[in-house]
Amino acid sequence: MKKKVLIIGAGVIGLHCAYYLNERGCEVEVIDANEREDESGCSYGNCGLIVPSHFLPMASPAMLQQGLKLMFDRTSPVYLPLARNIKNASWFFRFIQAANKNKVNQGIPILYQLNAESHKLYKELNKISRQQSNYHHKGLLMMATTQKGLDEEGHLSEKAQSLGIKTQMMSASEVVALEPNVKVDIKGAVFYDSDGNVSPEHHMRWLKSWLEEAGVIFHYGTKTEKIIVNKGKIDGVQTRSKKYKADDYILATGVQTSALVRSLGISLPIIAGKGYSIDLPSAELPLKIPAILSEAKVAITPLGNKVRLGSGMEFGGRVGELRMQRIQSMLNQTCAAIPSIKPKVAKEQVVWEGLRPLSPTGIPYIGGFKSYKNLFVASGHAMMGMSLAPITGKLISQHVMGEKPMIDLGAY
Ligand SMILES: Cc1cc2nc3c(=O)[nH]c(=O)nc-3n(C[C@H](O)[C@H](O)[C@H](O)COP(=O)(O)OP(=O)(O)OC[C@H]3O[C@@H](n4cnc5c(N)ncnc54)[C@H](O)[C@@H]3O)c2cc1C
Repeated sequence: MKKKVLIIGAGVIGLHCAYYLNERGCEVEVIDANEREDESGCSYGNCGLIVPSHFLPMASPAMLQQGLKLMFDRTSPVYLPLARNIKNASWFFRFIQAANKNKVNQGIPILYQLNAESHKLYKELNKISRQQSNYHHKGLLMMATTQKGLDEEGHLSEKAQSLGIKTQMMSASEVVALEPNVKVDIKGAVFYDSDGNVSPEHHMRWLKSWLEEAGVIFHYGTKTEKIIVNKGKIDGVQTRSKKYKADDYILATGVQTSALVRSLGISLPIIAGKGYSIDLPSAELPLKIPAILSEAKVAITPLGNKVRLGSGMEFGGRVGELRMQRIQSMLNQTCAAIPSIKPKVAKEQVVWEGLRPLSPTGIPYIGGFKSYKNLFVASGHAMMGMSLAPITGKLISQHVMGEKPMIDLGAY
């Protein structure tokens, strides 16, 4: 008999879980609090980078040091409002505990393997979808505007090579040869051929339609209010109007995941890391290859007729509170590094905000629970939810089918 699986959350993670569970012959239903056409969520306005090059866990001594320095700068992309984050104290405690050399060295091969396997799956999905999944393999340029920044990128590139990632150090003139339509004012860059990108909103639209055609049933505008337990198993989820039942349940609820499992007596720390993006017409910035401005921490992704700039990490951030000074700084730093773009004043109407689900270590939660055998979690992907979505879906499908997952992150 077919296994029935209920996925809560139709972000990029929930949809990829649905894809691989459907592929394994499960009867899949997905419920989401948002309406079908609502594209305001974190999985839509992000930068769409697929990043085997990003093997460093977020919790690292370097991140801690840099974060502390940037925190007191009103124009920096990192913002930690203290009063707001008092309730997140235990998350920060775990973050600091994880930010040491040993933990980072344990995390690097895990993150790399997850990203590299996920990138392979994106390539497969692109073939299966006959290029409708909107995947591109153009690599990534890590651009540095200072010598210090370039040295740091060079050091990371050596680490990348030791993992088997191909990298190429480039001078500013070599970058111009690759991007002849764009003026740059940088010291140099590292090129990662290992990376790819998708247009997030197009990928999401394609995947929803594909799943609907494959027989996956969606219930939009349906918020899970409560997870119901009976005799040590999940017996259903309660929404305002109805109880939904299945054999197995997947929580792919992004920043809401902690609150949902807390009612089951489980602590799974996730806080929001708010970021911003702004789209410019590609005529203004005819970049071909996705890039990241290393010091300014701005990601720039060409997406057909537009280019997306993304940045910002506001711990405990909420949607609807725009920090325009920081957003303006993102634009200013981008214009300074790429003077092809005319200086701009940031306008509130064009800013998209997304809440990244941050686990304290930077390693996502993908797997089952010790106390509830028919409940699984796929959340906490932070800056890499797009990148890691296919491998997350594949691993969850292996867990649900009772197989040993190809990458085992343990139980929670
Ligand atoms: C500026 C910015 C740039 C980024 N760039 C990149 C990038 O280049 N590459 C990359 O890999 N990642 C990037 N990210 C990160 C990426 O966007 C996230 O990691 C990813 O979207 C998280 O997906 P998710 O499915 O876990 O969460 P979400 O997209 O938030 O989806 C969770 C879903 O669960 C639903 N939900 C929650 N609670 C309930 C409930 N109780 N009942 C029913 N439904 C519920 C929500 O409605 C939502 O639809 C970026 C993020 C930002 C902000």
